[in-house]
Amino acid sequence: ATPLAILISTSTAFKSGILIKEGTILENAIKVRSVFFDKTGTITEGVPSIVNIKQYNGDVDILKLAASLERYSRHVIAKSIVNSYTDELLPVSDVKEIPGYGICGVVNGIDRIVVGNLSLMKDYGFDIDTKILEDFESFSRNGWTNIIVAHKDRIIGIISLFDSVRGSFRDIYDFLLKNNIEISVLTGDIYETTSVVLKDFEKIKIYSSLTPLQKAEIIKSNYDKYPMMLGDGINDAPSLKQAFIGIAMGKGTDIALETADAVFINSDISLLKRFFLIARKTRRVIM
Ligand code: ADP
Ligand code: MG
Repeated sequence: ATPLAILISTSTAFKSGILIKEGTILENAIKVRSVFFDKTGTITEGVPSIVNIKQYNGDVDILKLAASLERYSRHVIAKSIVNSYTDELLPVSDVKEIPGYGICGVVNGIDRIVVGNLSLMKDYGFDIDTKILEDFESFSRNGWTNIIVAHKDRIIGIISLFDSVRGSFRDIYDFLLKNNIEISVLTGDIYETTSVVLKDFEKIKIYSSLTPLQKAEIIKSNYDKYPMMLGDGINDAPSLKQAFIGIAMGKGTDIALETADAVFINSDISLLKRFFLIARKTRRVIM
């Protein structure tokens, strides 16, 4: 590899919105046989909108409760919930976020509040009755991501959100398949929701209900395919680091940016095609 060829390509990439930390990844890109995408915010727009609020047990304002807690989270789901509630929030203390699961805290100084997925509710020992479970399953079949809200000692509601697939994903999907590169999604969301959201992309292999560390383990076990990982958010840092090439979406957190080999600014996923084309060209110049 001539340093000059790499320098030129790195600069071309930069002009397109691809920030490359180490020019060598352009030479290495040709080896990639498998691309792993994070779902939320990478394949999807990352701006989930609330599509349904289901309330159980009483008259507590579940959106208000959830928003009061979620203001302490940087997760896209949290942001949507917070932006949907414009009134005054309640004081919350002892906040603890569990990456890939949700968040909990104490509201008004005394009441426990937990907001997150089904596993989190199980971990906290909340009783999930059949009606709630049935709703949860039927909502999931709509492709909704369902966030459960528990207050004091019981589940009080489900907030459902929908996040659509980025318009530019189709082109990337076709491009990767044409080049015999495997496509997988790694998500903390459940299988039912993910398979509905990605129903038009049948060649995608779905790995669901994963913790951030489990995502990294899957990348590791596929290392013979020179896996590339694209992700955003604090949650994806371990898998970005584990990947042969780790690419962070530009709106990602500082940690993800530090961990990645490259960054696509403005979270523009279509830059992946551009990246591969520039990489190929670099190689031609080298040879
Ligand atoms: P993804 O892999 O799709 O980016 P995450 O690993 O960030 O998803 O989160 C997995 C799941 O955990 C989410 O679908 C959601 O159910 C739950 N979750 C994570 N963080 C939060 C939060 N701050 N508030 C509510 N739910 C959360
Ligand atoms: Mg994510």
